[in-house]
Amino acid sequence: MKNTNNKVKYIFVTGGVLSSLGKGIAAASIGSLLECSGLKITLLKLDPYINVDPGTMSPLQHGEVYVTDDGAETDLDLGHYERFTNATMRKINNVTAGKIYHNVITKERRGEYLGSTVQVIPHITDEIKSHIRQVGKDVDVVICEVGGTVGDIESLPFLEAIRQFRFDVKSKNILYIHLTLVPYIKTSGELKTKPTQHSVQKLREIGIQPDVLLCRTEEKLSTQLKNKISLFCSVEVDSVITAMDVKNIYEVPISLEGEGLVDIIISKLGISAKKPNLDSWKRVVQVLSKPKSGEIDIAVVGKYLGLQDSYKSLTEALIHGGISNDVGVNINWLDAESLDQDPATTDLSRYHGILVPGGFGERGIEGKIKAIKHARENQIPFFGICLGMHCAVIEFSRNVVQLHMANSSEFSPNTPDPVIDLLPDQNNKSDKGGSMRLGEYLCQLRKNSNAFEAYGAREVYERHRHRYEFNNRYRIQLEEAGLKFSGLSPNGNLVEIVELENHPWFLAGQFHPEFKSSPMKPHPLFTAFIASSCLRRKNIQEK
Ligand code: GLN
Repeated sequence: MKNTNNKVKYIFVTGGVLSSLGKGIAAASIGSLLECSGLKITLLKLDPYINVDPGTMSPLQHGEVYVTDDGAETDLDLGHYERFTNATMRKINNVTAGKIYHNVITKERRGEYLGSTVQVIPHITDEIKSHIRQVGKDVDVVICEVGGTVGDIESLPFLEAIRQFRFDVKSKNILYIHLTLVPYIKTSGELKTKPTQHSVQKLREIGIQPDVLLCRTEEKLSTQLKNKISLFCSVEVDSVITAMDVKNIYEVPISLEGEGLVDIIISKLGISAKKPNLDSWKRVVQVLSKPKSGEIDIAVVGKYLGLQDSYKSLTEALIHGGISNDVGVNINWLDAESLDQDPATTDLSRYHGILVPGGFGERGIEGKIKAIKHARENQIPFFGICLGMHCAVIEFSRNVVQLHMANSSEFSPNTPDPVIDLLPDQNNKSDKGGSMRLGEYLCQLRKNSNAFEAYGAREVYERHRHRYEFNNRYRIQLEEAGLKFSGLSPNGNLVEIVELENHPWFLAGQFHPEFKSSPMKPHPLFTAFIASSCLRRKNIQEK
């Protein structure tokens, strides 16, 4: 630990001008750079919405729900944090305005504020600050990202809390980093600083003076432009950083370090750290920019295709599987509903692998089942995730075991053959939020299986987020017909992985392996799926 005064340091990352500038990636990259310099870090995301957690939100509204080991349903930025750093995210690493208000109101009802009028300042802000402090145990630096854009009404209590925080922990222990936009205006051929000036003014109105500006831009900022931003925003010129658009998010740590960000941070916070070693990032970027084995085409048959972020971790995990095979992964998003209604328009045979991801509800199910049938019958590598496993079991039951009405009771409560069903304890739950099998569970693997071969271990931990399970009433019947149960819970009661013999690679899991994949440690199942897809490409080419 090189933190000279043994005090936890806090970096607050805010965003200005507009959303989607990549605040989460910026926070994650700062975390990674500090880790590469030998510091122990953690991250925290403050989300201004009123939902207690994002678990009940549609992925089309807010992107995917990311699940942690301890079963928290969190913002997708926590996925970036875990993919970019070694910090383990837990329930406490994501807090929403809803959760803060919920805690305060619960305390008020318990009588903990007896005598006082409960108010935003100090009660809500105190609750936020105590949460930030709680995260900072046992680390050198906490990087705390404030969701939303400066100027929103919603994020005000969070910004007020981080303003006050400076006085609580002293200025030398705190740094405010503001991510902003410097747009390039084509008609005048110029980069414009006004949105940045206004956004910093907004921050200063509420009493926060940023120490560092990360200026998102398509063109490198000239010294002259940096001087101008520095003058108008009262930020030292060296701390006005070009945050260039990059082809791939994994280039961001390298790009920010190119501007000397670590030096700026550690000198402002008064800590010493070694120069960051970015060799691993350089290797990742090298493979991604020029994969030795060309590209493969993977079809993902899903339904939340309207928003790219709906399948964020999945997209990244496929790319990671490509990194371990030194191949570029071309992801083709196929709409499950259109595939059902108009199968002739999609030629599934042209893909090297087919993946059916997780999801909820009936829409698109029949299209997913058709895609799986095609993969099974045509020897195309297939990977099913959670709902994808449910569909694989339904497809096998209907078309191989001839249980023509087989279904999941999620989509067909009265099916005569509920091959996927609720466990008795799930039937009694009435709350929707947080009522699933959530978080990390142990899974035991059968030797001589694709799963065991991929993991190289008998016991693995994987993250879950679902209500429905394989129905054991059908286990013997399906096994006799050729479905292999290669992963089970320790007591053998829950089916965690199914696969097929006599197929190049057909595997589906009840869990979400995508949440445990990172560019430095690609998940073994994604690595194996992409490897078998590469083999299919080779076989096609040789024909
Ligand atoms: N909808 C299914 C369930 O609740 C699958 C969920 C998922 O794919 N994450 O069990």
